[in-house]
Amino acid sequence: MNDHAVKPAPAPATGAAHHGASAPAQETDGFQLVIDALKLNGIDTIYGLPGIPITDLARRMQKNGMRVISFRHEQNAGYAASIAGFLTQKPGICLTVSAPGFLNGLTALAHATTNCFPMILISGSSEREVVDLQQGDYEEMDQLAIAKPVAKAAFRVLHAEDIGVGVARAIRAAVSGRPGGVYLDLPAKLFPQAMDAAAGAASLIKVVDAAPKQIPAHDAVKRAVDLLRSAKKPLIILGKGAAYAQADADIRALVERTGIPYLPMSMAKGLLPDTHEQCASAARSFVLPEADVVMLVGARLNWLLSQGKGKTWGGATAKSWGRQRFVQVDISPQEADSNVRIEAPLVGDIGSCVAAMLKEIGPDFAKPPSDWTGAIAERKAKNVAKMAETLAKNPSPMSFQSALGVVRDIVKANPDAMLVNEGANALDFTRSIVDMMKPRRRIDVGTWGIMGIGMGYCVAAAVVTGQQVIAVEGDSAFGFSGMETETICRYGLPVCIVILNNNGVYRGDEKNAGGGADPSPLVFVKDARYEKMMEAFGGVGVHVKTPDELRRAMEEAIRSRRPTLINAVIDEGGGTESGRITNLNPTAKKK
Ligand code: ADP
Repeated sequence: MNDHAVKPAPAPATGAAHHGASAPAQETDGFQLVIDALKLNGIDTIYGLPGIPITDLARRMQKNGMRVISFRHEQNAGYAASIAGFLTQKPGICLTVSAPGFLNGLTALAHATTNCFPMILISGSSEREVVDLQQGDYEEMDQLAIAKPVAKAAFRVLHAEDIGVGVARAIRAAVSGRPGGVYLDLPAKLFPQAMDAAAGAASLIKVVDAAPKQIPAHDAVKRAVDLLRSAKKPLIILGKGAAYAQADADIRALVERTGIPYLPMSMAKGLLPDTHEQCASAARSFVLPEADVVMLVGARLNWLLSQGKGKTWGGATAKSWGRQRFVQVDISPQEADSNVRIEAPLVGDIGSCVAAMLKEIGPDFAKPPSDWTGAIAERKAKNVAKMAETLAKNPSPMSFQSALGVVRDIVKANPDAMLVNEGANALDFTRSIVDMMKPRRRIDVGTWGIMGIGMGYCVAAAVVTGQQVIAVEGDSAFGFSGMETETICRYGLPVCIVILNNNGVYRGDEKNAGGGADPSPLVFVKDARYEKMMEAFGGVGVHVKTPDELRRAMEEAIRSRRPTLINAVIDEGGGTESGRITNLNPTAKKK
């Protein structure tokens, strides 16, 4: 990736003059400098959608040996870039055209910032002079100003000689400290700007130590360990920051050496195998209110953890605090106390923090009392038995559970496969039924609980890891990015999409409340044949109605590694409104 030799620009489009020199100096241009700056920093894959003014940039990127994955909608390219950032610790790059393309990519940029994923949205833009005077340029928009509130940082480059600095700053901003989404604005006029090739090469920056370690202070480490030592009912919560940190062996050592039960947040599933005896997922509603000391590792006390308060945590009312005392390991010094008091904030990168804790703990950490671990084991056993009973049922039509029993077996047999998951019920049931055995194999809707990440994530997961991808999609969720089945087929990616099709949002049996002819806003075409979309692009489509058929179709997809869409028909009355977050839906609350 160190190939940053600047190639001569064939014919400078604007502004370059050789001033009559007999042997003209070699020149480069803005296009080439952007490419060279990215390649110099090890960035070899771009997710985007070409058009004015970045069409030639995309072409030349490919010509220069970069992998350019071209999507059908920028939002999906952006989601792909964001998750590529999560999986690789390098900023995922999304390339969009100006105004509408930029806006389509912006959702994903905000998503990256919210989820702490490193990403750079590079967008072409119209001419500053015209935009600032609002004179009506093609796709006129003050993109930099619009991007700022949803980005961790935003930069614009106006001169070719500043491209190196612009790219370096964007990379540093995306991956250092708490990672996030960065916007890099490249106006159309920048690309053809010519400059002397040697000066251009000299202006590029290979970023040194882009995400420096942040070593925690010893007194903070000691305070955290002391609090853990004082606990009678300790609990560790692992979040996607812990998965991102790639400190898997030390995290596992910390959990195992302390003997403390742990709960993985959804994208931290598999950091230790979900079947690990200390995993308390199957006793979640018991351990949260009962724990006395909770250590958060790369997890925020946001809505996904009921803000650390209320009945979930054993508080007497929906707003009151529970009895827990908290340790929080996080790279952001501002995260602590955002919802409840954090008695032992441990600020630093997770790798350094966990290593320092292991050192402080030494070999003689007293394991948690057996009445705590025993009570958890008992709850777990009861819930696991209940779940096994449900999974063993074979109703017709299939239920979410009977279909997911099959997915669970297939994922278990293919522990390296990437699992993409979105929907409402399709998300909730998959998260609790499908065990993950290895780190960073489950990627899902993240902090916002959004739909739409599906196919973008599938593409990036396949491109980045080369592994089989399995996507479990609600039929509603799939609709947000379904056109990217063409992208999956075009690049021949090993993606097996399973749509749990219950004909609608939440469920498919709702009627028009006004009695009119239009369908309810929550239902779709009945018995839609989504699998034909994949067939339309040369992939494999399968329509299944039983667990056996589903199993055979998934096994064949994995064997063949061909793009496959399995339309799994399930009971249209099977879902719950808003899945597990009914409490956030004012209508569902009244029901
Ligand atoms: P989850 O949704 O899984 O609970 P969150 O996205 O809420 O996870 O929290 C992730 C946290 O991890 C963020 O607060 C972020 O600052 C932190 N984080 C991300 N990367 C690192 C890292 N390398 N070291 C320490 N903390 C990190």
